[in-house]
Amino acid sequence: MTIEKKRNWKPATQLVHSGTMRSGFGETSEAIYLTQGYVYDSAEAAEARFKGEEPGFIYSRYANPTVDMFEKRMCALEGAEDARAMASGMAAVAAAVLCSLKAGDHIVAARALFGSCRWVVETLAPRYGIEATLVDGTKAESWEKAVRPNTKLFFLESPTNPTLEVVDIAAVAALANSIGAKVVVDNVFATPLQQKPLELGAHVVVYSATKHIDGQGRCLGGIVLSSKEWIDENLHDYFRHTGPSLSPFNAWTLLKGLETLSLRVRQQTENAARVADFLAGRPEIARVIYPGRADHPQADIVARQMSGGSTLICLDVKGGKKAAFAFQNALDIFLITNNLGDSKSLITHPATTTHKNLTPEARAELGIGDGTLRLSMGVEDIDDLLEDIEQALRKAG
Ligand SMILES: *Cc1c(COP(=O)(O)O)cnc(C)c1O
Repeated sequence: MTIEKKRNWKPATQLVHSGTMRSGFGETSEAIYLTQGYVYDSAEAAEARFKGEEPGFIYSRYANPTVDMFEKRMCALEGAEDARAMASGMAAVAAAVLCSLKAGDHIVAARALFGSCRWVVETLAPRYGIEATLVDGTKAESWEKAVRPNTKLFFLESPTNPTLEVVDIAAVAALANSIGAKVVVDNVFATPLQQKPLELGAHVVVYSATKHIDGQGRCLGGIVLSSKEWIDENLHDYFRHTGPSLSPFNAWTLLKGLETLSLRVRQQTENAARVADFLAGRPEIARVIYPGRADHPQADIVARQMSGGSTLICLDVKGGKKAAFAFQNALDIFLITNNLGDSKSLITHPATTTHKNLTPEARAELGIGDGTLRLSMGVEDIDDLLEDIEQALRKAG
């Protein structure tokens, strides 16, 4: 029995109830359907199911009831018609970027991309005859200049990792529409609560559900959301036949994560705003980038296209790598790790971890120096977090 949910619920309500599909047992919590396949009542029923004449599941590489609940809940939240959940964020990004393209097509992508995403467009796609141009995503004219007659796809992340640059999604979407291309937005840093790419004109939204959606460091997951038409025409067959499917157990974990997403993101954002202001006033800090502060480089775009700041902060400590390492090592609560979006507060030194494969010049282009650090704020008590940062700055300085 499917519970049809109203589309006009507010996000916090959708996150708890949308997409729920109860079995005859009437379970309160979503069931985990750990099954690969499905049994048919008769040979005729099997034939009808395969012909698409009868609704129902066929094989869990295609669809599964627990995964379906996760997809439907995400669709309600995002305002998307359809979605495919995947085993990781990268499975979702690779699918979203590649499923609609063929040899001879051209991608324009913002150069400030999550490392693996950059590899997909810069290294993998060209091997199959799909060329890519990387641009400074914050400059509208750089997107325009990169357009070629065969440009079919624009790909961007906003805010970006780790410097939290913000790209004008509506402007990129208008350019794409003018040449019949599509825009894919990796919305991980904003979360579905702080930015709505489809409403801004983007055609496809991608998430690593590994980040805020699980938010408790347990499992990998990803999802691609779009119109039913785009999914039917581009992703449907690619997904069925290449098999990046999400496991039912991980889908269940992500459903449980969604229930508390709005609470966690609200607390993480409140904590981040307080920490950003605190850091901006400290003599040990050279620069703080936080979407939500008036001194953010794209503060006008932030105000237009995002609601409510960010759960992440980018900062530069004075004294380069030595000071950055000393600060990280002196922290008690913040954990040194490359993950983000967790209930636990986390810190990363991009130049030696997530962005170590880029040349120093490429890092400089992205604004990543030896003193750059990325903070992912957790849900801990703000007083403890501020005290931890203060004692670490004192110890490191
Ligand atoms: C983590 C991340 C990904 C990749 O997701 P995985 O779940 O680790 O595969 C893609 N894009 C962004 C912006 C990310 O932060």
